[in-house]
Amino acid sequence: MQLGMKDRLQRAYNSRILQLAMKEDLEKRIHTLAEWLYESRHLVVFTGAGISTESGLPDFRGPDGVWTRRDKGLSPKPMGRSWDSVEPNSGHIAIVDLQKAGKLKFLISQNVDNLHLKSGINPDLLAELHGNMTKLRCTKCGKEVDRSGGKTICGCGGRLASSVVDFGEPLPENDLRLSFEHSRKSDLLVVIGSSLVVTPAADMPMEALRSDAKLVIMNQGETPFDQHAHLRFNEAIGDVLPRAVKRLKRLMGLFE
Ligand SMILES: [Zn+2]
Repeated sequence: MQLGMKDRLQRAYNSRILQLAMKEDLEKRIHTLAEWLYESRHLVVFTGAGISTESGLPDFRGPDGVWTRRDKGLSPKPMGRSWDSVEPNSGHIAIVDLQKAGKLKFLISQNVDNLHLKSGINPDLLAELHGNMTKLRCTKCGKEVDRSGGKTICGCGGRLASSVVDFGEPLPENDLRLSFEHSRKSDLLVVIGSSLVVTPAADMPMEALRSDAKLVIMNQGETPFDQHAHLRFNEAIGDVLPRAVKRLKRLMGLFE
């Protein structure tokens, strides 16, 4: 069916209006997030694989995710380059800016890609629930050392093994305890790039909500917590977080 000129113009007009409305709504949500960051006294950020896709790493449940592909009988998309060449992206950098502004009280990550530490996050503010592929952990005292050092035995005499947690293995005790503590203390929990379907990931928003914290979810794809989120972003992380942090810095009187 051929659309008349008037109909075509009407359609174009409607879609343009919709686009503008969505853009305006995004601006408003970014604005709100910046204000909440500004007001927060105990900001906790939680990240999953989704924050690293913009650095070229595969996620799990996204359109090209490891599990999405597995469900279709496909193997993970090959990365085509070495891990060392993977760099933090604007999302990681924005979290470092939150740290520099004194706003970030704790960062919990499910990622093993080392990009938070590589971007400059203070190790004392970071829990890596699934370990870190560049680090070994002592099986006796739990101390972490860089894999690049080539050591196999810890100073305490314990054996050094991969710090990356496999399915069914216990999570690092100290990281887990700190994650629970800070989620409980938080007044604002910002989830970035996690579908929150596995525990203990799903426990953190639960703890935060119990403490009456505001919950912000930035994830492309549904999460079981969507109806509890006070603010929800389905947009690309790089289109949201850096802009919210920039606005926060302006509110705080900090300039580049
Ligand atoms: Zn040890």
